[in-house]
Amino acid sequence: MITRNKFRNNLFIYYSSIFILFTLLILSYLYKREKEFRILTLNDELDNVTKVIDNYIKSNSIYENRNWILTDSIVRLLPQEELRVTVVSPSGEVWYDSSVHDWKSMENHKTRPEISESLYSDFGKSIRKSGTTGKYYYYYAKYYNRYYIRAAVVYDKKTINLLTVKKYFLIVITLSFVAIWFVLLAVTNKFGKSIARLKDFAVRVANNEQFDSASKFPKNELGIIGEEIIEIYNKMLKTQNDLSNEKEKLFSHLNALNEGIAFFSQDKTKILTNNHFIQFMNMISGELTISSANFFKIPEFHPAIAFIENQSGIEIRSSDLPKMEYQIGKNSKFFRVQCVVFHDNSFEIILSDITVSEKGRLIKQEMTSNIAHELKTPISSVKGYIETLINEPEMEFEKQKYFLEKALAQSDRLTGLINDIVVINKIEEAGSSFIKEKINVREILSEVKDNFKSAIENRGMKVDVNVDDNIYITCDRSLVTSVFQNLLENSVNYSGNNTIVSITLYNQDDKFCHFSFSDNGVGIPEEHLARVFERFYRVDSGRSRKSGGTGLGLAIVKNAILLHKGEIQVRNKTGGGIEFLFSLPK
Ligand code: ADP
Repeated sequence: MITRNKFRNNLFIYYSSIFILFTLLILSYLYKREKEFRILTLNDELDNVTKVIDNYIKSNSIYENRNWILTDSIVRLLPQEELRVTVVSPSGEVWYDSSVHDWKSMENHKTRPEISESLYSDFGKSIRKSGTTGKYYYYYAKYYNRYYIRAAVVYDKKTINLLTVKKYFLIVITLSFVAIWFVLLAVTNKFGKSIARLKDFAVRVANNEQFDSASKFPKNELGIIGEEIIEIYNKMLKTQNDLSNEKEKLFSHLNALNEGIAFFSQDKTKILTNNHFIQFMNMISGELTISSANFFKIPEFHPAIAFIENQSGIEIRSSDLPKMEYQIGKNSKFFRVQCVVFHDNSFEIILSDITVSEKGRLIKQEMTSNIAHELKTPISSVKGYIETLINEPEMEFEKQKYFLEKALAQSDRLTGLINDIVVINKIEEAGSSFIKEKINVREILSEVKDNFKSAIENRGMKVDVNVDDNIYITCDRSLVTSVFQNLLENSVNYSGNNTIVSITLYNQDDKFCHFSFSDNGVGIPEEHLARVFERFYRVDSGRSRKSGGTGLGLAIVKNAILLHKGEIQVRNKTGGGIEFLFSLPK
């Protein structure tokens, strides 16, 4: 309110000052004009008087007769009040004066300013006090060749008249000033309102305060400008909000990504990074930092930095942004570094943890060479047996049977190997073919036990199942069968004779059934324990091969359990033998 009044007052004072100055100028000009006009009118009037007197003198031959007293009769007839008429000879002698009886005694008038002026101009005029009457007069004199005729009026009266006109004129001016003052007041008030509201708006916006954009501006040019400014501001605010929403979305999206992403401006200052970026950067550098600026100090990123620096000065087209990528292997982890330079020379760095895929690739590579190696032995054996049989057609039947049985055993080994590879592949591709169903554990165990029935009997083994009839798990049937089948097969093959296998459900919680699978056989030497789940890892390869082992059994067990989100551990039992502890989902 104070601001508005202050502005309005300033505006009002400013306009009023201009207006007063302007009025004074006009007033003084008009006053001067009015005065000049009055004087001109007076001169005309007095000029007429002198003409009338001159005509009268001529027509009555007053000059010729020197009968100046006659002039009195015409002077009296003239309407002007307190009119004084004087006739002066060219030498200055007063021949007649209407306000003096004894004009012959009057001093010489040759030097009177109006008289001497009238000799060289149309007329002469002067305002002064009369030495004869003692009054102030406005004198007007004119030279008529044979005499001067001077007419005079008392000056005071004329001045009063002039002043009367001026007063009236001043009243008119003052009244119009008051009227304009009100108009000014209204105009400045309206402009004041607009400016005050605009100022209020600017101050509130600067202080981040709420602004009531519903209240309207006055309807004038400033008001329209004000409303436009607020509308532009509101639009800008909306754009800003939309932008920060989008930024928020982008940020949460970046944080949800598995990749580490950072955007840098041309001068290498961070614009945006996600948590993964900092995390991966620390994993690569082996240091702990929270600043993405450290990116430029880490030697592993030098190729990316060099690439970015090489782009400066080169024109970049949006359709063909410079990109590069390379891999970093550090502390048994693998990362892919990608970098993209944008047309304004800002750039983006993407760090991806490719450890799993890279390890998977390495495992696959190893697996392929292992498979090739594993296949080579049985195939060359089978080939060798068949070649021998072909090359020696005379061979005794018993010997032939022996070679054929050997070839059959090797092809059985091959079948086993291929089956295991199929299972391993199935686990790896389980994302699509993994079908969960409710399975009764006792049922599976009896099925598996039956498969090894004769081998168990031959070795004098015993299988103890401590799992209730009503225990169910939710798994892929063939994979769970593989788990128990491989574990039992291993016990049959490696634990030794007369051993006891125990399969126990030792615990269950909301989600999992926890099993113990153990035998009381020879166990596995401690130094091999950590590696028994690796593919193709065998403790004693000769023995394993002899028993038809592929080295994939425990790898299948572990992967099948992990696929069901369970866990598995192995340990040697204190009394001898091996124990596997694992969980499968209910
Ligand atoms: P394989 O096909 O050779 O059986 P596995 O992965 O099933 O391969 O087993 C890896 C190795 O662990 C086997 O070669 C064997 O030496 C050892 N092993 C597995 N189970 C037992 C067990 N119950 N008792 C003793 N050694 C075992």
